[in-house]
Amino acid sequence: MKFAHRIQQVVPSATLAVTNQAAQLKAAGHDVVSFGAGEPDFPTPPHITSAMCKAAENGATGYSAVHGLPALRDAVAKQFEQIYGQPFKREQILVSSGGKHSLYNAFQVLVDPGDEVIIPAPYWVSYPDQVKLAEGKPVIVPTIPEEGFKIDIAALRAAITPRTVGLVLNSPNNPTGAVLTAENIREVAKVVEEHDLWVITDDIYSFLRYDEGPFANILIERPDLRERIIIVHGASKTYAMTGWRIGFTAAQPALINKMATLQGQSTSNTVTFAQHGAIAAITGDHGFLDEWKAAYDARRRRITELLNAIPGVTCQLPGGAFYAFPDVRPLLGRTFQGQAIGTDLRLAELLLEHALVAVVPGEPFGAPGFVRLSYACSMDDIDKGVGRFAEFVRKLD
Ligand code: PMP
Ligand code: GLU
Repeated sequence: MKFAHRIQQVVPSATLAVTNQAAQLKAAGHDVVSFGAGEPDFPTPPHITSAMCKAAENGATGYSAVHGLPALRDAVAKQFEQIYGQPFKREQILVSSGGKHSLYNAFQVLVDPGDEVIIPAPYWVSYPDQVKLAEGKPVIVPTIPEEGFKIDIAALRAAITPRTVGLVLNSPNNPTGAVLTAENIREVAKVVEEHDLWVITDDIYSFLRYDEGPFANILIERPDLRERIIIVHGASKTYAMTGWRIGFTAAQPALINKMATLQGQSTSNTVTFAQHGAIAAITGDHGFLDEWKAAYDARRRRITELLNAIPGVTCQLPGGAFYAFPDVRPLLGRTFQGQAIGTDLRLAELLLEHALVAVVPGEPFGAPGFVRLSYACSMDDIDKGVGRFAEFVRKLD
């Protein structure tokens, strides 16, 4: 059987692959500590789950509007007014089956064959492959790790060609946990304006920031660029609703309607009763988030401290999301039981095989020489897992 060109250039998601591999080993009885999963370890708050159950029991089990339930779109619009300090209307909001689906739809609607989309590295694994699925060309631009993974404006300018159509921003970032500064965003915005680009700003971790100070975002910094800004958000990370598949896009209505046309010919509405749960999530009490954030904050400090105590490992304190992204380059020249480590991919394999610790290699995030550890896990797992990592490093020749 012949498979289409489009799927042949796309690779399976590395984050999902590591998570599944760790889960399989656990199911087979191995005591694996998994830092793979990019999802909260908290259950969805009960008031959200009961709203979903009640809706299902009361008959919200049929198809619903392709754009999303009007009440959910209104709730998102209101929440976005609070986040971004700009007015939002229902017509500017689309509900999709997870932020991943929102992004997919946006790339499909915005990218023509051969169009170039700039993606700062390290990036979340799915952006380049989604651009390729739209037959576009991902153009990777480095950030400056020593300066908190700040976007390198000179590199950004150098990457622009007549085929460049857009740029992806993601802060707090997956995999680095880095948070962009308002100043850096304003510099990026200037380039965007000069070259008439659109910007997808993936703000899915905006509620998970641990340091003082307001949220910096291109729409907040430059509301005058609003027509070219596409916000992607969702319920997965904020409310621990990863399995519910609820994602949001906010953009100009013409784009929202094109994305809805695509959705209407592919997935239709996302799960109707899950949307009722999402309404309860957005409109309900957010008190639980304070507790979760306090837990993530304590864990990020501990994991960073423990990682930095391993010789050859350097980790910056992440400002948001729930990922630590240490630089492990000094370990790559070493050997384990006579085998050269060589790459972060091999290091991740050896750690899983010999130390029963699952980490995601940096290479699929466009950052060879780094590994990603999700600290959306217990403090005990952090102590145990990073302890095993340290023990593994002690055994290197
Ligand atoms: N963007 C980023 C940066 C992410 O880390 C994720 C989580 N996988 C998503 C989007 C999509 O999440 P979901 O599809 O669960 O909403
Ligand atoms: N975003 C999460 C991660 O990066 C979940 C997995 C995925 O959707 O790729 O691990």
